Amino acid sequence: MYYKQYGNTGMKVSAIGLGTMRYDKEDIAAGRFEKCAQIPLYALEKGINYWDTAPFYCEDKSEIVTGIALSQVKRSEVFVTSKTNLNTLENDVSRDAFFRRLDLSLSRLKTDYLDFYHMWCMLSLDSWEKHMETIYGFFEEARNQGLIRNIVFSSHMQGNEIEKVVASDKFKGMLIGYNALNYQFRQSGIEAAYKKGMGVVVMNPLGGGMIPLNQEAFSYLTEGTGLTVPQAAIRFVASHREITVTLVGCTAKEHVDDAVRAVEGLHELPAEEIVRNYQNKGVSLDSLCTSCGYCKGCPQDIEIPKYMDAYNQKILTGKDGAIEDRLYMHWDITPEAAGTCIECGKCEELCTQHLPIISRLKEIAGK
Ligand code: SF4
Ligand code: SF4
Repeated sequence: MYYKQYGNTGMKVSAIGLGTMRYDKEDIAAGRFEKCAQIPLYALEKGINYWDTAPFYCEDKSEIVTGIALSQVKRSEVFVTSKTNLNTLENDVSRDAFFRRLDLSLSRLKTDYLDFYHMWCMLSLDSWEKHMETIYGFFEEARNQGLIRNIVFSSHMQGNEIEKVVASDKFKGMLIGYNALNYQFRQSGIEAAYKKGMGVVVMNPLGGGMIPLNQEAFSYLTEGTGLTVPQAAIRFVASHREITVTLVGCTAKEHVDDAVRAVEGLHELPAEEIVRNYQNKGVSLDSLCTSCGYCKGCPQDIEIPKYMDAYNQKILTGKDGAIEDRLYMHWDITPEAAGTCIECGKCEELCTQHLPIISRLKEIAGK
């Protein structure tokens, strides 16, 4: 395993981190938590010492499974995270609500401290400022009590917005979505964090499944590596000097092996050099939906991620007919419902890729 320093914390973490949102669904539903816990245990055996979890992952069982594994290893061998935000606290901004939630995470994880506690999913600067005014002080209090070791944040903001959060000097690290689809957008943010001495953890290195599904479009990533497209996509992210940990969600032990293979003999490069090497290869990336799902909740019940995924196929293949094929053959929905959009704009405000959802829906509906 390849290891990196996590910012200026003095912690040496594995270049691959275990994302714990992909424990086997059937095992989770059947309550076979001990079986699921074999995944983090195997990951640690392979050198993966950074385990990222949160409330609600895997039907709210991820922390429980991860805690079963954590209780079977030497605590100091693993860096474990969890997350909270105003939504998780049901907008209760009281001290009690914050500490109740933190205590629950700690007890599920069977530990008395977290290495990293995230101010979770900051979608905009407004949302971040609201969290700073209401609950950031509780994070500090928990750190002073030794319940958490480092305060970090996770975000879907763009590079220049992330730079502002980084400049606040209030966080030891951050978790962001970064991959071969969106890297040109997020780069200034990771560079700013790196310069500040922060750790940078990356989720979604496979672009929400887009990269494995469109292997031809991303085959340029494999050049000279001998890796599969998904492995090469993980290596692409991990090879950024500015990125500390690349999270990979694993359901089976083979997924752990694949991820470990992806960083064998890793060679780090500054982000600007990576962009120079790749920017003219493959498709234009910043216009693709990553299926993150943050736009859900349309008042017209339009299944936006499915329609935007179908639109991706047009961009990736260059064929108009690809949209309908994807809607009918893959999603089993028709283009018509896209035409019921009332243009309220809610989804575009939430979209982590800042996509023109309304005009794409119109195009899909043939308006
Ligand atoms: S703009 Fe249209 S698609 Fe987006 S949330 Fe509003 S009604 Fe739904
Ligand atoms: S449309 Fe935007 S918010 Fe919705 S799934 Fe795609 S990238 Fe995410």
